[in-house]
Parts: sequence; structure tokens; C-alpha cells
Amino acid sequence: MTSAPEAKSSQTRDLDALIVGAGFSGLYQLLCLRDRLGLSVQVLETAGGVGGTWYWNRYPGARCDSESHAYCYSFDEDLMREWQWSERYPQQPEIMRYLNHVVDRFDLKRDIRFNTRVASAHYDEAANRWHVRTEAGEEFSATFLITAVGCLSTANVPKIPGLESFAGDWYHTGQWPHDGVDFSGKRVGIVGTGSTGIQAIPVIAETAAHLTVFQRTANYSVPARNVPLTAEFRRWVRENTAEIRRTTRATPNGHPFLISERLARETPAGERQALYEAAWEKGGLQFRATFQDLLVDKEANDTAAAFIRGKIREIVKDPATAAKLADIDHPYAAKRPPIDTGYFESYNRGNVSLVDVRAAPIERITPEGIRTREGDYPLDIIVFATGFDAMNGPLLRMDIRGRNGVPLAEAWEAGPRNYLGLQVAGFPNLFTVTGPGSPSVLCNMPVAIEQHVEWITDCIAHLRARGLKRIEPKPEAVDRWVDQVNEAANATLLPLATHSWYLGANVPGKPRVFMPYAGGMVQYRAICADVAARGYEGFVLS
Ligand code: NAP
Repeated sequence: MTSAPEAKSSQTRDLDALIVGAGFSGLYQLLCLRDRLGLSVQVLETAGGVGGTWYWNRYPGARCDSESHAYCYSFDEDLMREWQWSERYPQQPEIMRYLNHVVDRFDLKRDIRFNTRVASAHYDEAANRWHVRTEAGEEFSATFLITAVGCLSTANVPKIPGLESFAGDWYHTGQWPHDGVDFSGKRVGIVGTGSTGIQAIPVIAETAAHLTVFQRTANYSVPARNVPLTAEFRRWVRENTAEIRRTTRATPNGHPFLISERLARETPAGERQALYEAAWEKGGLQFRATFQDLLVDKEANDTAAAFIRGKIREIVKDPATAAKLADIDHPYAAKRPPIDTGYFESYNRGNVSLVDVRAAPIERITPEGIRTREGDYPLDIIVFATGFDAMNGPLLRMDIRGRNGVPLAEAWEAGPRNYLGLQVAGFPNLFTVTGPGSPSVLCNMPVAIEQHVEWITDCIAHLRARGLKRIEPKPEAVDRWVDQVNEAANATLLPLATHSWYLGANVPGKPRVFMPYAGGMVQYRAICADVAARGYEGFVLS
């Protein structure tokens, strides 16, 4: 498909770089390009403030599953030392305060335009510029276009017939009202038991008259064991910033703890059980790091799965409810493993009930509530904790067109294809921070983001230092990377969760392609560094 080069309006603002999104990645990308390279840069952001995913996800119980002392930027020692987190895991409002602190500290706000959604971004080959138009009709032109739109920012509201007829209120957790929702005295239904639902359920249960959980796929969860941070721990963080950074860079998923070298398969049953017990007590994503082989060896994984199922049966008093919760159809951590605060315990409350919509699917939403094959559930409020059109969803929502007017949606018809998760063939000078094909969502996000942003910054500096104007990947490099992404996934148990959002399986009609790079952040960092050291091997620079 071809289209005529776009006419440039007299109102067009010319820039070196345009960044879409003001979350963790957009903010740091702005700082790098503006303050380190001295480029003219503009950030466009749909929301009314910074924060990206965290700006929108204000649902009850919204808290990060990464530990706070590592869920932050590490590029600036002083910033690391001066910010004091209050709890083991940061709550959504605290993350917002942190990001606003970063914005003020580095004077970023002046180059961010809020309440501005990008409608289209078209590449003009003759001028070697990206023409970006906002929904309000403003126009920008930039040599480099950097999408920092997040992986989990396009809400997936299931198309259940009758939703428009519902007489009560309904909300998606990823588009939560800023003034909150009052559940008191209300009959609430929540659809979804992923990380979000598992965080929200115990909190909503505290005030709702009744909470009905509609579960399609039962899920593992491990206690988070959130606690306020002691002065002593905070001092330790301040004094050990370099060590924390080293650890997050030495481990495949960017967390501040190492994965054990022990193999579950080779550990005697009694000892293994004791190690799982200790990890359960310690809480958090660290549970997954108890053994080296949990994500690659099904028999090893079965031991963790059996342990968690046992815990569910121990915690949940009603055996029929416990059986539904423990009837999990995928290996532990093959879907993103949730951590929780009182999730399974919620089902012991008199005002919480569980409906298995795998056994009796939701048929429709009526004015009164949700109808499954087995009956009607009258509700005042429905909460959709149904996840996101992840990774490529936010990119495809914009009308991005590359060389010859080819839409990204067309180039990715059969699923995302790119090189290093960073660049798409036929879309010169477009960089996708934490795009599909990058480790991003399998990693503690700030660690992945800093690597991507710094790599992109170095790449642009490299081009400018040599008077080069354009970079794009060779099709054969893209083919190789797609193979590598598939090989990395297939070396793990992750593809066995056939309905996970990693595969795009949560969105009807989305091509089933394993999207994140599962080879680990350490490996990915090495590959990217090597590509750069070889003069950006696999890319065409001109
Ligand atoms: P999710 O993992 O995709 O879970 C969505 C849930 O909704 C699943 O239980 C899914 O069931 C269910 N669902 C979707 N459509 C449905 C339908 N039509 N009928 C019935 N059930 C339906 O989404 P999420 O929980 O929002 O989490 C997404 C990701 O965000 C996480 O994996 C994590 O990476 C991130 N996250 C992080 C944090 C944190 O750090 N604190 C918190 C929340 C989320 P099926 O499994 O059967 O599809």
C-alpha cells in the first residue's frame, strides 16, 4: 500500500525526537535525549499526569509486585538514596508520588504535553521524518519516534452481550475512576482472577455487601507479606545502592534477589517442602526463585504447583470452594504469578462467593446482573479485572505507518515481528521501548526500561556522531530475532499456559504468538550490547 507524502502544515512543530507516553520509560527517555544528548524532544501523553500504567490502574489494592527498593530508577545514585519507600511493595499512590518527584527533580514537565492522544504517526521517506498528529489535530514532525506506551495499557473489556443494558455501574480496573468507587452496601461482581483481580478481591470484600468472584481460570498465588519498611532496612538500601543495582542486573528477571542454583528435581522431598514453606513465609515473587528448574522442568514445577494447591486447601475452609480454586490448569508461573494479601482467605468471609465460569460460562449481562449457564447473579456493580490487549495492543491502537504508508497493523497481521523488540523493518527511526520481543514483562520493569532507553539513547548518539540519519533493521535480522524469541519461549514452560496474555490468547482474534523474550534480561542485555559493539549489526544505518 502506498500513500502520498504528507503535506506539512505551517503549525507543525519540528523536533529531533517525539516520545509517546509519560510513564517510567517515557520520562527516562526524555531525560536521556534532552539532557544527555541535547535534542529537542516532546513527550505526548494521553493522561492528565505522568505515571503511564500506574496513572490508570487505581483499582482497590493496586500495588506493585516488585519490591519497592528495586521498583525505581537506578541511573542516579542520589535519586536512589534520597527517595524513601514506606512499604515492602509500593502502593499505586506512592509510585505516583515517586514519579512526580522524578519529574520535578529533573524538570521534565515542561516537555510533556498531557491530555494529548496520538492519533497517527506516519513516516515520510523523502524527508526522513515522522509526522505525528494528535486527536486534537496538533501536528509534530520528528526524526526519531519513540513509543513508550507500556505493555499493559490497553484495557481488555470482554464483549459480553448485554453489557450496555446493565442498570448498575461497571468499571475496568485499568480505567479506574480517580475519585474511587464506593462499594459499601453493594452487591459487587468481579470478573477475572489474574494479578489484578487477586489484589482487588480482598479489598473490595472489606466494604461490599456481597462480592461474587467470576473465575474462568483458577490461579496460583503466593502471599506478598507486605510490611512497612523499617528505618534499618531503608538505611541498608541507602548504603547499598550499587549492590542492589548489581543484583538486579545479574538476575534474569531483574529482581533484587538471585535465583537459587538448587534443582527441585534433585532435592529430597522433605527438604524441598521445607524450602517451599520458608519461601511461602517470606512471601513474594521470590517464591519462584526457590529452585533453578521451576520454569523449565515440568516435574520440578509440579512440586511447586502441588505445594501451592495444598496451601489453598489448607486456607480455604469450604472444600468445594477450595477445590475450584485449586483446580489450576497450567504450570506454576507459566502465567505471570500473582502475589496477594489475603486472597484465598477472602473466600472464608461470609460475603464472598466463587462462581466457576469455566464450568458454566457467562452467557450475557442483563439489566440486573450477570447470567451464567447455571443462573442469574443480581449485581449493583461489575468490576472487570480482565486484563489488557498486551504488548502490541497499545502500538496498534495508534495509526502507525512506515515506509510506503504500510500500517503497522498490516506488517504485524500475523503477530508482532521486530528486531530485539526495539525496531520494526520498514519503520525507520521508530523505537519501541519494551515492545513485543523484549524481556520487559518478564522482568522487573524499571530494570528492563533503563536498558532499553539507554540502548536507544546510545544508538541515536552513535548515528548523530557519524552524521547518519536513519536506522532500521534488516528483514533477515528480524526473522532471526523472531526465531530466537520462539526458541527462548519454547525452552521454558511458559507456552504451556495456552490462554495467557503472553500469547495474546486473552483477546479474541489476536494472533497467538509468544510475545516477550523469555531468554532473560542478562542474556538480552548481552545480545543488545554485542549488536551495538558490532556497529549495530543487523541494522541498516544510512
Ligand atoms: P490477566 O492476567 O490477563 O487476567 C485477566 C483475568 O480475567 C483472567 O482471570 C481471565 O481469565 C479473566 N477474563 C478475561 N476475560 C474474561 C471473560 N470474558 N470471562 C471471564 N473471565 C475473563 O489481567 P490482570 O490481572 O489485569 O494482569 C495483567 C498483568 O498486569 C499481570 O499479569 C501483571 O503482569 C500486571 N499486573 C501487575 C501487578 C503488580 O505488579 N502489582 C498488578 C496487576 C497486574 P482467563 O485466565 O481464563 O483468560
